[in-house]
Amino acid sequence: CGIVGYIGYRDAYPIVIKGLHRLEYRGYDSAGIALLDKDLKVYKKAGKVSALEDFVKDLPLTSTVGMGHTRWATHGAPSDRNSHPHSSGDRKLTIIHNGIIENYANIKETLLAKGHVFKSDTDTEVLIHLIEDIKTQTGLDLQEAVRVALNKVVGAYAIVIMSADEPDMIIAARKGSPLVIGVGEGEYFVASDATPIVEYTKNVVYLNDNEIAYIHRNELLVKNIDNTVQTPYIQELDLKL
Ligand code: GLU
Repeated sequence: CGIVGYIGYRDAYPIVIKGLHRLEYRGYDSAGIALLDKDLKVYKKAGKVSALEDFVKDLPLTSTVGMGHTRWATHGAPSDRNSHPHSSGDRKLTIIHNGIIENYANIKETLLAKGHVFKSDTDTEVLIHLIEDIKTQTGLDLQEAVRVALNKVVGAYAIVIMSADEPDMIIAARKGSPLVIGVGEGEYFVASDATPIVEYTKNVVYLNDNEIAYIHRNELLVKNIDNTVQTPYIQELDLKL
């Protein structure tokens, strides 16, 4: 339902939590975050963003890469384990997702037959396992594995992905669900709408359907899922918030 992500030089956790609060108006049943420093940490809880904050309050949360999600359950009951982020079997990849993967049952069946073990009842978890599967089966890098996976997906999504093996990059993509990228200097923001971004930068790129953004601290590369490089159009927000 709500998405916020950050990569840059500031502490990610406060930006992510504040962003989730700003997205609370959309409604949700659970919330979660992922922080990527030397390792990848994922914390999630059914209930309010404040319940998640209580849950993590004594934990070390230092990182300059992070993302958070508020979930509006479509597949799988509202619960801790169905909350986002969802991770791959090897726990190296993690995803947050708005929308619905319509063909998740077919993909899940194939992956189960290959030995994948799922920890949730969501459509979202199937997508991150599919990316992991493509990566390990084909030897493609993460960028390409995500692109190939998205070509197999039917449905609507706005997603953000982080990988423990690529701590200097986040990947964002959309089809049918909005996603906006805030462009800073040495930092980027991602969100499902501009409200979490507007206090940091007015320069934004609205991703188009079928686009994937590979975001490093000092570089934004946007490709179409057919692999053609796109020129991102940076526009100035005119929001009276
Ligand atoms: N379909 C996903 C789920 O049920 C994402 C729902 C959402 O957009 O928050 O977990």
